[in-house]
Amino acid sequence: MRRELLIWLVVLASCKKGNDLSRGIYEPPAPVTGKNYSAAEITSFKQITLKAAGYGVITRMPREVSIYIVDSSFGYMNREMDSIISEINTLLSPNLVLRRVPERSAAFLQAYFTDQATYLSEQPSAAPSLEGSSHLGLAKMYYEDEGIIFGGSIFVDMARTGSDSAQQLFILHHEIMHSLGFLGHTTSTQFYTVMFYYAVTPFMTDYSDFDRKMMKLLYDPAIRSGMTEGEFDEVVKGL
Ligand SMILES: [Zn+2]
Repeated sequence: MRRELLIWLVVLASCKKGNDLSRGIYEPPAPVTGKNYSAAEITSFKQITLKAAGYGVITRMPREVSIYIVDSSFGYMNREMDSIISEINTLLSPNLVLRRVPERSAAFLQAYFTDQATYLSEQPSAAPSLEGSSHLGLAKMYYEDEGIIFGGSIFVDMARTGSDSAQQLFILHHEIMHSLGFLGHTTSTQFYTVMFYYAVTPFMTDYSDFDRKMMKLLYDPAIRSGMTEGEFDEVVKGL
């Protein structure tokens, strides 16, 4: 069955740890340790993948992903997207290869750097998540039950973030992580990550070592889309 998943981001003006943590109550699984991954890293990985949103399976992009930027007049956002694509390719190729395409029709992922009304006029199914909300970013991904992402869009609200380019760059990094298959957010304060539910200020405008490690793990050749936690545990012990 094909499903649609919307993950949004609330950015507060400052880090408010402890505020509304009911959203993030997380019962950690029994610890599993890998060769290169600590038990804490694996637990956090599970929170933002397997345990996120209740799907219970590993969700990933296919090996080759094309990205189209929809009508962006924000040169610095376009450049940052190119920089992220390059960084992720260096990190994950050939297990994941991203490329920007000039043709919208051929694009797997569409990136909107625009205002909410413009985004919703093209992606109306996001309206219930965005309208009347304070969400400044969104990832809307389509995926199969087998954990294979087959398309989607990301949105950075350029109108409501105004001239705060650091915040915009942070949201871009955050939504790209969602699009890769990190469907959830982490409540652990142990790691510095763009996937914390609330943005930490000053805004992170690059991926942390932890974020890169999480990407390496999700796109490790031994990890497959659709893996259950039990299957993942068996494999990750050797990674
Ligand atoms: Zn998010």
